[in-house]
Amino acid sequence: MTAKGGDKMDSERFLRSVINASPNAVITINESGEILIFSRMAQAMFGFAESEVLGKNVRVLMPEPDHSLHDGYMRRYIETGKANVIGRARPVTARRKNGDVFPAVLHISEFDEEERIFVGFIEDVSRQKATERRLEDTQLQLQHAGRIGAMGEIATSIAHELNQPLTAAASLAGAASLTLKKASFDGKDDALTLIDDAVSEIRRASGVIRQMRDFLRNRETERALHSINRIVEESCLIALIGAETDGVMVASALDDHAGSAMVDRIQLQQVIVNLIRNAVDAMQETRNKQLTIATASAGDFVEIRIADTGSGITDEMKKRLFEPFATTKEDGMGIGLSISKSIVEAHKGELFAMDNHPAGAVFVVKLPASKDGAKEDA
Ligand code: ADP
Repeated sequence: MTAKGGDKMDSERFLRSVINASPNAVITINESGEILIFSRMAQAMFGFAESEVLGKNVRVLMPEPDHSLHDGYMRRYIETGKANVIGRARPVTARRKNGDVFPAVLHISEFDEEERIFVGFIEDVSRQKATERRLEDTQLQLQHAGRIGAMGEIATSIAHELNQPLTAAASLAGAASLTLKKASFDGKDDALTLIDDAVSEIRRASGVIRQMRDFLRNRETERALHSINRIVEESCLIALIGAETDGVMVASALDDHAGSAMVDRIQLQQVIVNLIRNAVDAMQETRNKQLTIATASAGDFVEIRIADTGSGITDEMKKRLFEPFATTKEDGMGIGLSISKSIVEAHKGELFAMDNHPAGAVFVVKLPASKDGAKEDA
């Protein structure tokens, strides 16, 4: 673009308005690091008025160690032409007027006009970082809760499977001991002691299994009043990170009046994440891949619906859907839905599935809505 017939003042004014319109902070400096232009966004981001920083060294916007090292960086570049930062975006730490330090992404370009000018474009990424951290935290907690939940289910099944043979072994050993007592042979007492030892080992094994099951089952739950829409939104993000979602269209229909419920946030997220992942799995082979996540206020309840246009649930599977270890997947464990159901029921809610039309499945989580307007936890 050429500034037709415009004098220098016009093109400067034009340049300034472009710079001020940029959604990123724009700062230009000369070879000595002195600030020449400090855009409107830069003023908002750093808290300095332009007049406060014009002519000042740009290092006022940097915390240590860059604050002390920046002059050296610039000198080295000007002497050697070797650039570490020119032409590519890189993460940096910046400092506001009030001393707050924040993460940013900096992109520098260089212009050689009458003098050498460096233009920095700065994006404040503190919000993204905070969201990432919150998501990472939640994911960690979720994995932990998921592992504990899965272990609890497995422990219950193992305990159930092992208790029977252990009880049988204990009574068989008891019977052997009685039979031996009636007989007389050398070493009888030793044999009886050995059998008693075997019985106490069997009892110990049963005790260990019982303890493990009880320990894993009794995870402390932390119920608090939470916004259902917020939990659903966070769960979607978590569920869709790293999932095979190629071609899946995600639509959400969150009811502004869905309100809050007394729930264990991590557990409810575990349920929704599992339902979303199942929905995505069910659409692997179908051409139309539509995932709809909705919330709705329904009388005394709040509903969360996860609908897909996948394979649908087979008649055979419908009978066992919520049973532990029921799976149709090659690498499935079949415990997700059974844990989800027990979590929802522990919240005095319901979890059920229906056919979607014309194809696919809908899973519904129904939870008692909170009646009082108490303030929700963040
Ligand atoms: P897993 O995913 O390990 O198999 P789940 O308990 O979560 O364990 O699911 C059990 C089974 O229920 C799945 O293997 C699948 O057959 C069926 N299922 C779950 N969700 C859906 C769905 N959205 N569409 C069709 N079938 C489903």
